[in-house]
Amino acid sequence: MERGADAERKGYRHSYDMLGEAARTMADADRYMASYGNAIDRLGAAGGKGDLFARASISVKLSALHPRYELAQRQRVLEELAPRLISLAERARERGVALTVDAEEADRLDLSLDLFNMAAAAPSLAGWDGLGLAVQAYQKRAIHVIAWLADLARRTNRRLPVRLVKGAYWDSEIKRSQEQGLPGYPVFTRKASTDLSYIVCARAMLDDPEAFYPQFATHNAQTLATILTLAGDERTDFEFQRLHGMGQALYERVVEQSGRGIACRIYAPVGSHEDLLA
Ligand SMILES: Cc1cc2nc3c(=O)[nH]c(=O)nc-3n(C[C@H](O)[C@H](O)[C@H](O)COP(=O)(O)OP(=O)(O)OC[C@H]3O[C@@H](n4cnc5c(N)ncnc54)[C@H](O)[C@@H]3O)c2cc1C
Repeated sequence: MERGADAERKGYRHSYDMLGEAARTMADADRYMASYGNAIDRLGAAGGKGDLFARASISVKLSALHPRYELAQRQRVLEELAPRLISLAERARERGVALTVDAEEADRLDLSLDLFNMAAAAPSLAGWDGLGLAVQAYQKRAIHVIAWLADLARRTNRRLPVRLVKGAYWDSEIKRSQEQGLPGYPVFTRKASTDLSYIVCARAMLDDPEAFYPQFATHNAQTLATILTLAGDERTDFEFQRLHGMGQALYERVVEQSGRGIACRIYAPVGSHEDLLA
């Protein structure tokens, strides 16, 4: 947070993430859970000006919260992981810190949506606009996930911060599908299709400001410029996001022009869970 102060003076916001492997044991998951909780407390104590979306937020990987976060263990995961996610989100709500669930492998998408649905339906989180999800445009299901989220936002009477990413696991998704001899891939196989899917999802989110607070996470100048054009001059109620250490030159330009009112956030991995617990 101290190191982020310079960037914040320039107009950036942050979302913090803890570097760490997926939990292998319940003891790992307990440790990761504790360090996410500590981080939420620290972010909350630091406070910050402005509304919830303008403040520092936290990004959480569900694979860090349970050692068997996999479809084959669906019932167990719903019973054991959902309460963990909900309790972290309750803590985040109390401290005024938005929480985004990161997107992981394609075979976890259904399970992640079930868990997100349970959190969105939790009475303790009713109406809270801080519960967010990352959506991967390279998945063929992306636009349907956006439609499902729009419906969820309306059903649970909230605005969802949605981080639109292209997807980080392309090679392994392709490899896994080939190894298993599946009839198709869960992700697009041409880069142009992913780029198009990103724009289609972006447009759907921009066109539905009651359901979405759009968070466009990309380092691609053309994608970013397309979104600026789609949004036009009137729509500024969204933000761009970059990873710490990437996309600086591009984002300096956007931040410099923030007279237009467009916010930028840096997704910052901050050491390991172990460091945070120390
Ligand atoms: C703030 C932030 C948060 C992020 N959080 C997540 C997250 O939670 N989960 C996650 O998975 N990723 C996450 N990412 C990473 C993201 O998914 C992309 O991998 C990364 O941003 C590169 O995309 P780009 O638009 O910046 O660059 P580009 O160069 O425009 O796009 C590269 C992307 O295109 C896609 N691609 C490449 N080749 C092909 C092909 N042959 N066919 C189809 N698609 C292809 C892949 O998704 C690849 O990552 C995050 C990125 C940012 C900036």
